[in-house]
Amino acid sequence: MQKKIAFYGKGGIGKSTTAANVSAALAENGYQVCQIGCDPKNDSTRLLLGRVCKQTVLDMVKKYGEEVKPEQIVHTGFGGVHCVEAGGPEPGVGCAGRGIIVALEKLKALQALPEEAIVLYDVLGDVVCGGFAVPIREGYATDIYIVSSGELMSLYAANNIAKGVARYAARGPVRLGGIIGNSRGLANEQALLQQFAERLNTRLVAYIPRDRTVNKAEIHRKTVIEFASTAPQAAVYRQLANFICENQELTVPTPLAFEDLEELVLAYGDE
Ligand code: ADP
Ligand code: SF4
Ligand code: MG
Repeated sequence: MQKKIAFYGKGGIGKSTTAANVSAALAENGYQVCQIGCDPKNDSTRLLLGRVCKQTVLDMVKKYGEEVKPEQIVHTGFGGVHCVEAGGPEPGVGCAGRGIIVALEKLKALQALPEEAIVLYDVLGDVVCGGFAVPIREGYATDIYIVSSGELMSLYAANNIAKGVARYAARGPVRLGGIIGNSRGLANEQALLQQFAERLNTRLVAYIPRDRTVNKAEIHRKTVIEFASTAPQAAVYRQLANFICENQELTVPTPLAFEDLEELVLAYGDE
């Protein structure tokens, strides 16, 4: 089975943690999985590799030029997950989005990823510039999931990402698979996220509890799937992984006006 998935969302919202756990759960189920970090933080695959990946695509291209080999940019992590970090420019220099284009083109040219794999792109969504829209715009990913909590700024970023998806859905196969709720422990957070998803013409496909097991696993540089395989939190990630695999109900989103978003948050959060 081939699936081309992307997780988008505000910085620090839990994209990489969720992506790594979903990748690990898919690998456990026997799928070939690739996780591609498209965030200049370069830490998307840390929990799968047990270390921060220092050999990013951009770094390796800079070092070896045309001679770069697939095995120098694709690293094997937990459960055999193929791990890639696109890499980014030095802070304060260059365009991170441009870097993502170069990295993804290189991966394609080298045919560095197995054809029948589930590919999961983990993309920063604070800026929905042309650069960060590349995985959507260029058809690298078709099934888009937005990770969000119930906080206004997280929903604001999610709504902007939905605008980007709606734009490219008009001329290609990209669709919204749903909202992945990652809890911050706010009042009425699940109900708010559910309502937000409905207004966006999509669904809340998971509501992931805020759980200390995630932090414990993180300091041991592991996913929850690996570190606490029988914990309830691991079951939450496994369920999400299965859902993503089977989801056929993808939609064209209907983003909200900012005022409507504010009103929604006020209706649920003012307790
Ligand atoms: P992003 O990739 O969106 O920038 P990360 O996945 O790096 O965000 O997560 C940011 C921080 O939040 C990390 O320290 C991570 O361990 C923590 N975190 C994410 N999800 C949860 C959760 N469900 N429960 C507890 N901590 C979480
Ligand atoms: Fe590049 Fe986007 Fe940053 Fe502009 S905002 S420099 S397009 S990554
Ligand atoms: Mg991240």
